[in-house]
Amino acid sequence: MKRILTSECSSKVGEVVQISGWLFNLRTLGKIAFLLLRDRGGIIQVVLEDPELIKQIKSVQNGSILEVTGKVKSAPNTQLKVEIENPQIKIENPVLEPFTIDLTKSDINAELDVVLDYRPITLRHPKSRAIFKIQAGIVQYYREFLTQKGFTEFFGPNIISASSEGGAELFTVNYFDNKAMLSQSAQLYKQMMVGVHERVFALMKCFRAEKSATRRHLTEATQFELEMGFITDHNDIMDILEETIKFITEKISLNYKAELELLGITLPSAEKQFPRVTFKEALQIYFERTGVDERAEIDLSPNAEKELCLYAKEQFGVDYIFVEKFLRVKTAFYAKPNEVDPLVTNYFDLLCRECEIVSGGQRINSYTELVDSLKLKGLNPNDFEDYLSIFKYGMPSHGGFGMGLERLTMMMLGLSNIREATLFPSDLKRIAAKSINQIK
Ligand code: ATP
Ligand code: MG
Repeated sequence: MKRILTSECSSKVGEVVQISGWLFNLRTLGKIAFLLLRDRGGIIQVVLEDPELIKQIKSVQNGSILEVTGKVKSAPNTQLKVEIENPQIKIENPVLEPFTIDLTKSDINAELDVVLDYRPITLRHPKSRAIFKIQAGIVQYYREFLTQKGFTEFFGPNIISASSEGGAELFTVNYFDNKAMLSQSAQLYKQMMVGVHERVFALMKCFRAEKSATRRHLTEATQFELEMGFITDHNDIMDILEETIKFITEKISLNYKAELELLGITLPSAEKQFPRVTFKEALQIYFERTGVDERAEIDLSPNAEKELCLYAKEQFGVDYIFVEKFLRVKTAFYAKPNEVDPLVTNYFDLLCRECEIVSGGQRINSYTELVDSLKLKGLNPNDFEDYLSIFKYGMPSHGGFGMGLERLTMMMLGLSNIREATLFPSDLKRIAAKSINQIK
């Protein structure tokens, strides 16, 4: 008999079917036992009445791989509206050791550190699975939307020979007899790709050797990168970003209802237009709302970001807000200075719920302006030869953004820590989820 999915059983009432999956849980009630079997389609209930069979199944632990053959019966009160009765069960691969964390409870009742210590297994918890299902959906809709808009996906390098932006904190790796680095963004490459395809996007790893131990920083993150040519200014980039977020939100709320319900989540509201305020206005708003005067600061503090998100929600009924025109001293060398006020750049951040999820803007596209800007930032133009060459051989006005996948997932799902939205997080204490102390 051919294996079918648990989710396909509802169309087979009265028929004998074969399903395979993980033993999720077994409950006994008097002489009957209810076995829950999980596969990629869902969780189905299997009713056991044979005392011998119950005894046999009781000896294997949750997680065991089972093959169940039985008759499908209608059961309106169960998740899949059907159950399996009179089963024959083959234990394909038994789990003999009980797992220390109970994955059958509605939440894993353990500290995040413990959850990460056992990451390969705790990822199987239904809520964790729901998070990463949705994350995969976010990626799918990102690709779908931008492909529709004429963007071409590209795959940039992660091992690079020099800093992609200069001055940033990068991990170095031994590269045969040389030193190489892990890229901290696809910035320079995506600009090069504008010269090739005009509109490009990528989903790339980025590595940041920042010693920031916060709820929202990783040392290895995944970034949605986008870059497009022939723009008027950064407003075109904010427009495409806003449309992308709206598209993703709509699709996720439509196609991931069960996961959202399981997580008890309402997505950030994105229907209304996202407000756009300048950096200067942002600090003024923060001051007027809280009395905290950061108007002389050169960057937004985490508290100011949080307050601006509240402002957007209260005033505009939306969970997103753009802050634009950052100070030139605070933006990268390739940021295009504003034509009216050259002390600020055509750069922006998009904040969601409580913090930044995207940075982007218009780039300089004139060779001489770029060389001057590099020098102004104390960088050596000779170190950027490949990059600079594109500006000698034809570059339109262009701009783009970088959006963290894990950061976006965290904010969209209202998670309290970015590590919950990262399969195998690396940070100051862990490499791919494993504690550095355990590795030593
Ligand atoms: P932050 O101010 O939050 O540290 P950033 O301004 O240094 O971020 P950018 O270089 O602007 O980050 O990167 C673009 C986006 O990539 C950020 O808006 C964020 O979503 C994500 N990102 C950046 N750094 C990290 C990190 N260390 N861990 C996870 N995501 C990150
Ligand atoms: Mg940023």
